[in-house]
Amino acid sequence: MFVGHYAAALAGKAIAPKAPLWTYIGAAQLLDIGWSSLVMAGVEKVSFDPALPGSPLVLEHMPWTHSLPAAVIWSLAGLLLAKVLLRLPWWTAFAVGLVVFSHWATDWLVHRPDLEIWPGGEKVGYGLWNIPGAEKTLEMGLIALAGCAWLWKRGKYGRTAWPAMLFLGFLVALQMVGEFSEPAGSSFAFARLGLVVYLAVTAVAWLADLGKNRDEA
Ligand SMILES: [Zn+2]
Repeated sequence: MFVGHYAAALAGKAIAPKAPLWTYIGAAQLLDIGWSSLVMAGVEKVSFDPALPGSPLVLEHMPWTHSLPAAVIWSLAGLLLAKVLLRLPWWTAFAVGLVVFSHWATDWLVHRPDLEIWPGGEKVGYGLWNIPGAEKTLEMGLIALAGCAWLWKRGKYGRTAWPAMLFLGFLVALQMVGEFSEPAGSSFAFARLGLVVYLAVTAVAWLADLGKNRDEA
């Protein structure tokens, strides 16, 4: 799951628009921002098996970012950061926390069993990666649905559609580039590329959301 995670961010922005879009976009990948950093630091481990269907990722060890209790703690941290740093209302900060947690829930759908219920405990994952057609349809379907909800909500606030359309096009283009590129050689290089992409998408989301209507804030 890559751009599919952003569907939760767009849905969050449509439902609780007081948080800036970049907050939701960063929140949707917060676990992977942590994961990339910890892989680069050598704390969490990933390797690649090109023979696997769908995604070549073998996620051997990621207790600090992708175990269930870790995901809950990251989500609570996201909620509190949104509340304290951005001074958002509680309901909006809660929506940001939920978007952080949505990452684990959607990873569960696609990952092969590599998500620990407890650090060192049973590993779960529904494994849609093993059926690549279904997995890609799910990601694109989620983006299309949430993208429509977001566009409709922006329209209600009288905002122009084109920055949002460009952002959605950018996400689809990113997905295509991801499909057709081989994972970078080392796990370090792969994690570094991931981190750059997650932060770049967050920055592009900030651009796409400029000029907000006063009713939203
Ligand atoms: Zn993840």
